[in-house]
Amino acid sequence: MESYTTYDYDVLVIGAGGAGLRAAIAAIEKGARVGVVTKSLLGKAHTVMAEGGMAAAMGNVRSEDNWKVHFRDTLKGGGMLNNWKMVENYTKEAPDRVRELEQWGAVFDRTPDGKINQRNFGGHSYPRLAHVGDRTGLELIRTLQDHAVKMGINAHMETTIYRLLTEGGAVVGALGFNRQTGEFLVFRAKAVVLATGGLGRIYQITSNSWECTGDGFSLASMVGADLIDMEFIQFHPTGMVWPPSVMGILVTEGVRGEGGVLKNSEGKRFMFDNVPERYKGEFAETEEEAERWLQGDRNARRPPELLTRDVVARAIRKEVNEGRGSPHGGAYLDIASRRPADYIKKKLPSMYHQFMKLGNLDITKEPMEVGPTCHYVMGGIRVDPDTQATNVPGLYAAGEVAGGLHGANRLGGNSLSDLVVFGRRAGMAAAEYAAKQTGSYQVDEAQVRAYIAEALQPFNNPQGENPFALMKELRATMQKNAGIMREENELKTQLEILANLKKRAWNTSVSGGRAYNPGWHTALDMRLMVEISEAVVLAALARKESRGGHARLDYPDPDPTFAKLNHIIRRSSDGTLNVVAEPLPEMPEDRRKIAEAKDLKELSDKVGA
Ligand code: FAD
Repeated sequence: MESYTTYDYDVLVIGAGGAGLRAAIAAIEKGARVGVVTKSLLGKAHTVMAEGGMAAAMGNVRSEDNWKVHFRDTLKGGGMLNNWKMVENYTKEAPDRVRELEQWGAVFDRTPDGKINQRNFGGHSYPRLAHVGDRTGLELIRTLQDHAVKMGINAHMETTIYRLLTEGGAVVGALGFNRQTGEFLVFRAKAVVLATGGLGRIYQITSNSWECTGDGFSLASMVGADLIDMEFIQFHPTGMVWPPSVMGILVTEGVRGEGGVLKNSEGKRFMFDNVPERYKGEFAETEEEAERWLQGDRNARRPPELLTRDVVARAIRKEVNEGRGSPHGGAYLDIASRRPADYIKKKLPSMYHQFMKLGNLDITKEPMEVGPTCHYVMGGIRVDPDTQATNVPGLYAAGEVAGGLHGANRLGGNSLSDLVVFGRRAGMAAAEYAAKQTGSYQVDEAQVRAYIAEALQPFNNPQGENPFALMKELRATMQKNAGIMREENELKTQLEILANLKKRAWNTSVSGGRAYNPGWHTALDMRLMVEISEAVVLAALARKESRGGHARLDYPDPDPTFAKLNHIIRRSSDGTLNVVAEPLPEMPEDRRKIAEAKDLKELSDKVGA
């Protein structure tokens, strides 16, 4: 019989990115004994890669900014599918969470008068992103990690959670294994917070790190948690397209925030021709006006390169499809002709080095070639807007793995502040729930044994398939059939492919021992990746319209019927996934007025703060 080591915690946090670390800090502050599990090392979670900044209406650069303008921008960017209560909690609390990070030692860039500096980003009406050059995620993680370690988290690094454990319908822990040794670990916990980040690795071209295989969505769904709006995947407009080995790596929106412009192969700034109806009148209509905005003229409107990501990504795709793309299938992003070299190196140091080292290109002298890359998932585990509780007792979710805040499309910078606002709320609520569970730690021994046997099965299956080949097939077919532009036939084909891949994912073969065995890790990742891919495709098939991150060739326009519906992915008792359309939570009239305000001046008073 396989042995395992057992750990007991009041709150187990799965994931050590921004959301997980902030949840852990909040739970410890409430007196809970907290364990944090991460697939990689502390400080190396995907959050570390975040570049441009964290959005919070602090009003440091433009005093007119406040939570109401941020509320309106977030809902507008999200195609009004966002959970309005989450947006309100988020926009009201984000400034405090940024100031808290500063108190804990984060070193933000400064305005000339010493305040935290804020930069422009797509879809934000005012400069709103607190930042540290283009390495904001690194500073966020460093600060949270130092604070969490000081407060006494118990970290389990290089540990993958394979299954959540349940008892009487409630989550009571998790089964995982140490990636270095292959040893199984059982975590008994009174409450569990999932903070496992996104799912970009189910696509072939992605900006996401290796950890983003979507585990948390599947782990939650497998114990009965609802998922929401999984069709909404964000394809960031500017990933590297050349050389092939680095395809998909992000080129921060900060480049456009600092004045970078997009051009096609004819040298035309094509975004002026791509302003959607709902944004008409809000963006500069000539290059001359856009230039005045860059020089600080407050009467000029923002350049159309700062439209939301879904709009810009589709505009680039259109230029390429119509034969006006760059040589490697993208568009040109030019900061070189817009800003002096020393300014670019100071404000965008990572971009400068990234292109120099990976593309042998000096961005202070030449334009970059960029194209869409899978970047973020707006959908996720359905949570309560105040506590981040899921519909499964004892299970909470925060960060990218949770859904609801961003609706159909996330505004850049709205993730990092989401992590700290809702990570904190999840940690507090989980600790409060745990404090009420007065019985002893319990897990079902038979459940643990069954999951261990299941996890070891690829070692005892010499005729099974190669897990790496399966993963390659999954990623290529998701890219082709459920990528940036979708249509019914391809989505249906993908469902068939996934049904087949699902069977094969349970029939893989791996050799060697359990100590650091990437083949085994891939075999287990695949089982979770096919589940979440199916949820994405089912939801995409059901939404017969185009909105935000979901674009259908066969239904190219938004449809008012779907404007009022969230798609819930629910597992039935036989294990199949189903889509249920549910009406959006009703938004009160006073909040609707804010969300639909046309004139920003109406929102610049402080009433209701
Ligand atoms: P992550 O940081 O992804 O952390 C997930 C954690 O869960 C990791 O520790 C991982 O090891 C662990 N984990 C996963 N599965 C398991 C498992 N099965 N068992 C155990 N542990 C597991 N957003 C912004 O707001 N501003 C930006 O400027 C910005 N820039 C970005 C730049 C890039 C290149 C990318 C890719 C994204 C950017 N984003 C940005 C988005 C943002 O970085 C992410 O949405 C955010 O960091 C996600 O944080 P998280 O805490 O939810 O998860």
